[in-house]
Amino acid sequence: MNPIASILDLYPVLVIDGALATELERRGCDLNDDLWSAKILLEQPGVIKQVHLDYFKAGADCVTTASYQATMEGFARRGLNEKEAIDLIQKSVRLALEARDELWAGESNRVGRFKPFVAASVGPYGAFLADGSEYRGNYGLTEKELIDFHRPRMRALIEAGADVLACETIPCLIEAQAIAKLLGEFPNSTAWISFTARDEKHISEGQVFAECVNQLQDHPQIAAIGINCTSPNYIPSLIREAKKVTRKPILVYPNSGETYSAAKNDWNGNPILDSFGEAAREWYDAGARLIGGCCRTTPEDIHVIASWARNRN
Ligand SMILES: [Zn+2]
Repeated sequence: MNPIASILDLYPVLVIDGALATELERRGCDLNDDLWSAKILLEQPGVIKQVHLDYFKAGADCVTTASYQATMEGFARRGLNEKEAIDLIQKSVRLALEARDELWAGESNRVGRFKPFVAASVGPYGAFLADGSEYRGNYGLTEKELIDFHRPRMRALIEAGADVLACETIPCLIEAQAIAKLLGEFPNSTAWISFTARDEKHISEGQVFAECVNQLQDHPQIAAIGINCTSPNYIPSLIREAKKVTRKPILVYPNSGETYSAAKNDWNGNPILDSFGEAAREWYDAGARLIGGCCRTTPEDIHVIASWARNRN
């Protein structure tokens, strides 16, 4: 079961959704919290479902669940027991599945598109630290410790019915390798692996991106490899670097180009593109096949991508 391959068999581009956390903030949710969007899972799940539905309606082929910062350890700090934490992680998948089914129940919504799927966000260990480590790496953990961190959430997301695991915002190769190894424990699952980058050639911790892609590219369960939550400035070069070493589909969902301050849990500066959705054409031309947006992007941006990608309005 690999919905990524199924969609790319039919269309040249698979449209990913845009930001969740910053979109929730734009709609008035207060995410000033170590748990970010996971806090809204507890308090305002209906708003999360509505954001998912709006991305589907904008033309996204998949949405990414609100589990980026939802971890067993994070919820335990809030006094939730193990069962409550698993239930909340699984709720993130249910909300996205409900939004997808609601979209698909409308006959006119099905015209000209493949049935969208749900990608369960597997945020990095750095997101649990909530100190900006997902843009630095250097956790000081072993591969085994990272596997043990990721295992219970990954199992919960798969058991809740997620179609794909979106292993995203990964700053370092060791974490990608830990996830790749862990996938072997869930042999029927499909995943994408997406790094953050510090420049046109290197992921955040400093490893050469092309070498990271090369390390992962023989893994049968990894359906796409790429970059997210990185400045659009670096994206065309990073796509070309990946293309040199892999035939797997390349995915990109950069942020708006503003910079994140972990201390303030806020984004500074201005979007660097006149139109994010129009700029995404350049990423397609460079060789990306799964395209969407990360922090500070909106359903309007995704609508622009879907419009040129599917040639419809
Ligand atoms: Zn982001």
